[in-house]
Amino acid sequence: MPPTMAPDADKPRIAVLAGDGIGPEIVAAARLLLDALGGFEYEDVLIGGASIDAGGEALTADALAACRGADAVLLGAVGGPKWDSTDPDAPRPEQGLLGLRKGLGLYANLRPVKPIPALLDASPLRRSRIEGTDLLVVRELTGGIYFGRKERDAGTAVDECVYTSAEVERIATIAFAAAERRGRGGHGRVTSVDKANVLETSRLWREVVGDVGRRFPQVELEHLLVDNAAMQIVAEPTRFDVIVTENMFGDILSDEAAMITGSLGMLPSASLGDSGPGVFEPVHGSAPDIAGEGVANPLATFLSAAMMLRHGLGDGDGADRIEHAVGAALGAGLRTADLFTGAAGERRADTEAMTAAVIAAL
Ligand code: NAD
Repeated sequence: MPPTMAPDADKPRIAVLAGDGIGPEIVAAARLLLDALGGFEYEDVLIGGASIDAGGEALTADALAACRGADAVLLGAVGGPKWDSTDPDAPRPEQGLLGLRKGLGLYANLRPVKPIPALLDASPLRRSRIEGTDLLVVRELTGGIYFGRKERDAGTAVDECVYTSAEVERIATIAFAAAERRGRGGHGRVTSVDKANVLETSRLWREVVGDVGRRFPQVELEHLLVDNAAMQIVAEPTRFDVIVTENMFGDILSDEAAMITGSLGMLPSASLGDSGPGVFEPVHGSAPDIAGEGVANPLATFLSAAMMLRHGLGDGDGADRIEHAVGAALGAGLRTADLFTGAAGERRADTEAMTAAVIAAL
């Protein structure tokens, strides 16, 4: 511990967007964990249903400005039955998420998949197949078919898929830089996933990824067609290091890869842009069915906080400490309800007990 504390202006500022449902519970737990590490400033910002209730909008201009001014954004989850409506003009909590992604220019979504040893038997895949898996899916988030021109008449529908080389270049750069930093196998490897045998956008994708790869000669590059990639992710997940792919393929493959770890309550994510803060959030939603009961699994949010330290605040050591502490709490047998199987050595824990155990293991 240094003898004097750094002035507050030097502390990283985290915009904290608790959101709805279990969001406030898991984000409060993550804040206790970050407090245990020490050295952060927080600003609470409304998003989703909570923001609609306060002023009729899922993300206000002030809220977005507060996020822009922060060093990183930690998000819980948004949504819930209270705001479900068939009225197309009614504000929706999810508009807050889209507004945040668009407003911060977050074009890269990172989802690490690394089963925790204590949970190896919680995966639908056999332990022998997944043991040693440590991969990162880098998904392009703001281009491609989801954002292309849409047309519809009585008997025909069109979804246009467009990519520019600049869009491919920036996401590929994120992927190669991540592979270089991870340094798996001494050099790191990028698997670029496309459908270049059929799609013109994929042929551009392959060309540009190859060009970017030449700037990272120490990182190995392979190209894989998406159908083959989907098969190999379940057949031999350990062969992957960094997977980079376009928006729709990434949407599908990242959910497929996520199942390797077995539980939705364990999965973190990061969304990054070129400059400005990234958004770090668990993959799961607001779990209205258990909201307010104090039983939500906070670990996906803790692992998202670790990603925030590593990718958003340049503190890889802090990230490692959180990840080890999560592994230690699980290794000691603690299980929130979503992870509890009744196997020998398991102990039930609510949000508070799990949080205390992780903090104790830091
Ligand atoms: P969900 O992820 O909220 O819940 C699915 C199931 O998993 C539920 O049974 C829930 O109890 C359980 N679960 C999820 N997270 C958990 C945790 N941390 N600990 C223990 N159990 C957990 O998905 P859903 O039920 O389809 O959606 C609920 C709401 O969340 C909807 O309004 C949806 O739009 C919203 N949603 C938000 C986000 C987001 O904010 N990024 C993502 C997905 C869904």
